[in-house]
Amino acid sequence: MRPKSSLGQNFLTNPGIVTKIVSFSGVTKGDVVLEIGPGRGILTDRLLETASRVVAVEKDDGLFAFLSEKFSRRRNLALIHGDVLEIDMRELISPDMKVVANLPYNIATRILLRFAEIPDLLHSMVVMVQKEVAERICAPVGHSGYSALTVLLLSVFECTPGFVVGPKNFFPEPKVDSRVVKLVPRENHLPQGERDRFRQVVMCSFGQRRKMLRNSLLNLPGVTRDTLPAISLASGIGLEQRPQNLSWEEYRRLSRAYSQIIVS
Ligand code: SAM
Repeated sequence: MRPKSSLGQNFLTNPGIVTKIVSFSGVTKGDVVLEIGPGRGILTDRLLETASRVVAVEKDDGLFAFLSEKFSRRRNLALIHGDVLEIDMRELISPDMKVVANLPYNIATRILLRFAEIPDLLHSMVVMVQKEVAERICAPVGHSGYSALTVLLLSVFECTPGFVVGPKNFFPEPKVDSRVVKLVPRENHLPQGERDRFRQVVMCSFGQRRKMLRNSLLNLPGVTRDTLPAISLASGIGLEQRPQNLSWEEYRRLSRAYSQIIVS
């Protein structure tokens, strides 16, 4: 089976890195783990030894057949043939599940944003992504990597960077470094009912990254130069700021003010 770059197939080859990922994930007996993209099963094998039960979703037909054979005797594995972006997560996930994965890099951010819709079902996520993506996820306010992705994930998760993994630990070797990241749902995460509006405000703000908010927010439906002062007053946010200088909590205030003043 030749690795398919279209499915982000860079398989881990170093068991020492697998040990470090599982240790960083904190998975122990009693845990139920969801693995996305088990590939050839190097991480799955270790998760099956460490956790009580593993649910693993693989899209690739050939790998699914290979894994079904390889793990045919494992009673604590549920192998699912499907696309993690299309499956109904609520059917897959049991409460307090730990997600552990070496994600397909081409769709890693889309996968993370899907999980950001169901924080109440998750205990934690430990995922390996491209190093540059990990740095965007964990970027502090004001940093050049601080982006819409950072804010959307921070509104739901506390994000902690883990260790860096070089290309030599994979087959085929990717062109970039990788990094493990831990995401744990916040207790005070953004409620589901506010997420669409919040996302709209964040995406609009970062749509024109170099502009002050008072200019970019004019692209939101209903916002005019006349209504901007009321939004600023209600949110307590100075709109001369640029998008990378607001914390996720400030975006929450901004999106609440937008809802109050324009939408209602
Ligand atoms: N876990 C293995 C490892 O560490 O060696 C493989 C990781 S590889 C980076 C990503 C895996 O995700 C591949 O097995 C690929 O086929 C699978 N994959 C890609 N897109 C997927 C999708 N949409 N849904 C489920 N699995 C997917």
